[in-house]
Amino acid sequence: MDYQGFSTKAIHAGQEPDELTGAVNVPVYLTSTYQQQEIGKNKGWEYARLDNPTRSALEESLAKLEGGTSGHVFGSGMAAIAALCTMMKAGDHVVCSENIYGGTARLFDKIFVHYGLTFTYVDAGDPAKVEAAITPATRLVHIESPTNPMMSIVDIAAVAEVAHRHGVELSIDNTFLSPYLQRPIELGADIVMHSTTKFLNGHSDGLGGVLIGTKPEHKERFEFVQKCTGGILAPFDCYLVLRGIKTLALRMRQHDTNGRVVAEFLSKHPKVKQVFYPGLPSHAGHAIAVRQQKGFGSMMSFELGSKEAANAFVRSLKLCYLAESLGGVETLVSHSASMTHAAMTQEQRDALGITDGLIRLSVGCEDVEDILADLEQALAGIE
Ligand SMILES: *Cc1c(COP(=O)(O)O)cnc(C)c1O
Repeated sequence: MDYQGFSTKAIHAGQEPDELTGAVNVPVYLTSTYQQQEIGKNKGWEYARLDNPTRSALEESLAKLEGGTSGHVFGSGMAAIAALCTMMKAGDHVVCSENIYGGTARLFDKIFVHYGLTFTYVDAGDPAKVEAAITPATRLVHIESPTNPMMSIVDIAAVAEVAHRHGVELSIDNTFLSPYLQRPIELGADIVMHSTTKFLNGHSDGLGGVLIGTKPEHKERFEFVQKCTGGILAPFDCYLVLRGIKTLALRMRQHDTNGRVVAEFLSKHPKVKQVFYPGLPSHAGHAIAVRQQKGFGSMMSFELGSKEAANAFVRSLKLCYLAESLGGVETLVSHSASMTHAAMTQEQRDALGITDGLIRLSVGCEDVEDILADLEQALAGIE
């Protein structure tokens, strides 16, 4: 059955009661193989690298939530991006937004360049720059919006229009907002990718990644990649993401509400030099974010002016954890320059504004008063 409302879809799409028992949760099918009836005859399941019912349920759920036609889950977000790259062959070119997830740039520049792919990084905030970078060899434009950690906004519909005019597909990493807050396929994207590790799973207890396609050739290609390279998500981890998705709408509403309050608080705090959050009217991408997102979410970064100030702040935190990752129910704080973007050179970080005083925040679902109190006492400790 096709449901209309997002919350209903999140709870039911792909997650119908088990046919055998009526169990309302999708069973975790811990099996590597399936008994076959006779030569060439089976119940549609042959071997767990190809398919598993728990995984199929998750893939259907994710495809429906993003408005795509097929979903394909992998062992991590990076495994999903690696699978995306196997759409291409030596000689193909990718245009990529410049302040992309650090691991994605590392995968492109340190691994896939050795297989004959080439990558050009541009400020995708200006669709004309994306267009100028497209060559006859370009096969894919890959972007994020908002970007990590500067929270710059890319006009997804404008970039999709440019890419399609040149016969190029657009893929977007939608990890920072989840399909509750942004659905890129509705804006023209061809492929959506997520690290399900973050908001989709939502509880900081498992890794995963997904590619969502919109065309029969995506389904054919990504299923083939799952079968050939084997980097699939295991059944129990699929179950964790399915369970996380059931409360996605509830969690995202809380993340969004808390995010707005925290951004407002930080923007008025004397120890904070600048806040990067698309929900603030002062943010350069605010108008586009209002148009293409259903909310602003809970990801933001802010400038404390120096590494000493940043370190004094994170050392004093009690409720919020200094940790890699994001999108969990707990508030997580990270220092981009030494954590997610440590692999970049100082010049690369400077060019993107990732200073030693920059703190990234993934605001959780705690009571916002408690989050504010912790931030306030930690900020007070800065000299
Ligand atoms: C975490 C993350 C990834 C990588 O996902 P893993 O699950 O850690 O492999 C990719 N893109 C973005 C935006 C992320 O936040």
